[in-house]
Amino acid sequence: MINNRPYIGRFAPSPTGSLHLGSLCTALASFLEARRQQGLWLLRIDDLDTQRNIKGSVDNILKTLYTFGLHWDRTEDYQSHYLKNYEEILIDLTKNQQTYPCICSRKILLAKQPCLCRDIISTQAHSSLRVRINPCLISFKDKLQGLTSHQFSNQNDDFLLKRRDGIIAYQFAVVIDDERQQVSQVVRGADLLDSTPNQIYLRQLLGLTPLNYMHIPVIIDEGGYKLSKQTRATAVDLKKPQAIIFKLLNLLKQNPPKELNQSPIKEQLEWAINNWNPLFLKNVRAICNND
Ligand code: GLU
Repeated sequence: MINNRPYIGRFAPSPTGSLHLGSLCTALASFLEARRQQGLWLLRIDDLDTQRNIKGSVDNILKTLYTFGLHWDRTEDYQSHYLKNYEEILIDLTKNQQTYPCICSRKILLAKQPCLCRDIISTQAHSSLRVRINPCLISFKDKLQGLTSHQFSNQNDDFLLKRRDGIIAYQFAVVIDDERQQVSQVVRGADLLDSTPNQIYLRQLLGLTPLNYMHIPVIIDEGGYKLSKQTRATAVDLKKPQAIIFKLLNLLKQNPPKELNQSPIKEQLEWAINNWNPLFLKNVRAICNND
């Protein structure tokens, strides 16, 4: 363990729709890990990408977590309340020449044309902001996925901190958010494993303590696609919380006893906290949901 702050975990959904089985599974795993470690479990609404936010989703997410007994500590946190804060940190990084404006469109970058912005001072209004990386190797040991490394080598690795449309990029926001909430443990879906080196890079740049990571498998459908809003995963049924928790405990390889199927949510969660063993998920990146 590299971070010895008291255990603070979090669940950070984007309000882009209702929670589906996959997102609820992530919530449950991070809740169980936090409770098992007698830590705090915080809820953060990742609502910076205003174009993707869907009206009503926040209420739906809160209601769903509540119905499933996943009660969070403190009041929920909203990224959108801290816009000034992100901007101030970007100004500081820019003053120190650690960022630069980039005018390349997505189309240019997707066509793999070289981005020359690093060496040109652009004054165009519609530019994004990239971090000017220094070549280095970032390695970290994920509790389930083992050692992961990424070599940052050249300007192609200069990732976005702020998009051309002015929206603060996820990679940057998440670092500031985790620090604001004093998070010590990140438990989230394995689909985000590859973005972790960028976040560790930024933490080092900002002089922040390293975090502990645990990337849990994502749920995929029979076609091998991750359950997501894009693949039209349906919202979890709020009328059947017990059956769903039981199903998720099985998907998370916790082997719940059969009789737990009909137990009240509170009892199911008590059993799950007492018996939680994430190591049954070691090296598993995806779990197939058969129905
Ligand atoms: N908001 C992100 C998502 O819904 C998760 C961020 C995180 O856990 O780091 O995919």
